[in-house]
Amino acid sequence: MKNVLHGLEELHLIGKIAEEETVIRVELVKTSPPRACPHCGCPANFYKHGHRQQIVLDKPLKNKLVELVIQRKRCKCKECHVTL
Ligand SMILES: [Zn+2]
Repeated sequence: MKNVLHGLEELHLIGKIAEEETVIRVELVKTSPPRACPHCGCPANFYKHGHRQQIVLDKPLKNKLVELVIQRKRCKCKECHVTL
């Protein structure tokens, strides 16, 4: 698993790895909110704003596609009201 997760240290495995005929699907959750708002640059000051699912393809492993299913917590900046 270390190779698959290389460079994505802020992500945590939430338990499910499904290996199918052509794809390995790994479910991850991103836990840490950004330290500052990337839109207005103010220090982190966010409302919680639900969840969003993002699918990223990683490097193939054992000739199978590696699909990372990332559950991201959404948040909304209290200063500029942009949803991240
Ligand atoms: Zn902002």
